[in-house]
Amino acid sequence: MINQTSLQLGSVRSVIRELFEYGKKRKAQIGEDNVYDFSLGNPSVAPPRVVEDTLIDILQNGDPVEVHGYTSAQGDFAVRKAVADYVNSKFSVGLGPDNIYMTCGAAASLCITLNSLLNEGDEVITIAPYFPEYKVFTAHARGKLVPVRGQNGTFQPDVVAIKRAITPKTKAVLINSPNNPSGVVYTEQSIKELCKVLQECKENGQTIYLISDEPYRELVFGGVKVPYIMNYYKDSIVCYSYSKSLSLPGERIGYIAVNPAMDCASDVYAAVCGAGRALGYVCAPSLFQKLIARVQGVTSDISVYERNRDVLVEALTSYGYKVVRPDGAFYLFVQSPEPDADAFAERAKDYELLIVSANSFGVEGYVRISYCVSPDMIARSLPAFKALAESYKK
Ligand code: PLP
Repeated sequence: MINQTSLQLGSVRSVIRELFEYGKKRKAQIGEDNVYDFSLGNPSVAPPRVVEDTLIDILQNGDPVEVHGYTSAQGDFAVRKAVADYVNSKFSVGLGPDNIYMTCGAAASLCITLNSLLNEGDEVITIAPYFPEYKVFTAHARGKLVPVRGQNGTFQPDVVAIKRAITPKTKAVLINSPNNPSGVVYTEQSIKELCKVLQECKENGQTIYLISDEPYRELVFGGVKVPYIMNYYKDSIVCYSYSKSLSLPGERIGYIAVNPAMDCASDVYAAVCGAGRALGYVCAPSLFQKLIARVQGVTSDISVYERNRDVLVEALTSYGYKVVRPDGAFYLFVQSPEPDADAFAERAKDYELLIVSANSFGVEGYVRISYCVSPDMIARSLPAFKALAESYKK
């Protein structure tokens, strides 16, 4: 018999993928312009010009055998050094190349990190709403995901509830800020309070690692700051990705950074290398490693996301929806006008609006709108949002 867990995972699509597939069919039936697809988090702005120029330069002037060849399992040394130097220049955290492991994006960063830390039955606390794949990744690493709801209304971490959820089996707390699906950026105050609780556990003999999943770090609006966890807590690991910051989700490139200040940092890094090896996640794409070494600090033009946010927040609020104003990422979290968010997302389809119920994100009664779409589609979708709101007033 083949592995039943894998069979089951591969046989059902996620709610988001399901909706995306529905959208493709619907567009074929009634025309592309008549469906308002807010389902996926696929960046809608092109990578910065310098990304393509640099790729062309590497391909034209590099040694093809080297450009396309294997790098070290954990990534090319010069690339890891470039990443470490850049992060140090921003946050002064003393990273070296041997604290960096190059990966195929944040998903791989998370899988490797969880497999490097967890033993059978260990628990990982995360803050709801959360990225649904966390459950899959944690289960595959033999652990159990323990969601703790964020604070009502703001969705900042509820540190009192997190403290209550800690057990002797808690091995890690996994955070994601800017958050998918709420768009909320965790404040410095929230991070400090969370780290205080983890530090108390440390002093009582229990090390709990803080894992920060950061594919949206650069996607923030209005000068909002995203605290860098290594500056607040030693036992911390950053899972980074260039999927959103450089609009390169299909190229699969990111990294893991292990805080050099933690106890046994070299053992944790070795465990990361071991987990990467066991999972077959060695040697992240060579061409894209070389690229990112040369474009540190570059970000896609995110102004369109900010404009989309402003238009949607203003319009939806005026129609009577209750929204969580996002400071980052490209998601808008909207309270469902009826208690059942699945039913609301289903009714939205009657208006050709494809929005995702947040039930699978661990919070009931909300939907997620991905606004990494064209401003034109947003403008065309507004009458549908208005009619949908009015359908609840009848
Ligand atoms: N973590 C979060 C919160 C995400 O939203 C995503 C992708 O949407 C990922 C991880 C996976 O990112 P990547 O494409 O870099 O693997």
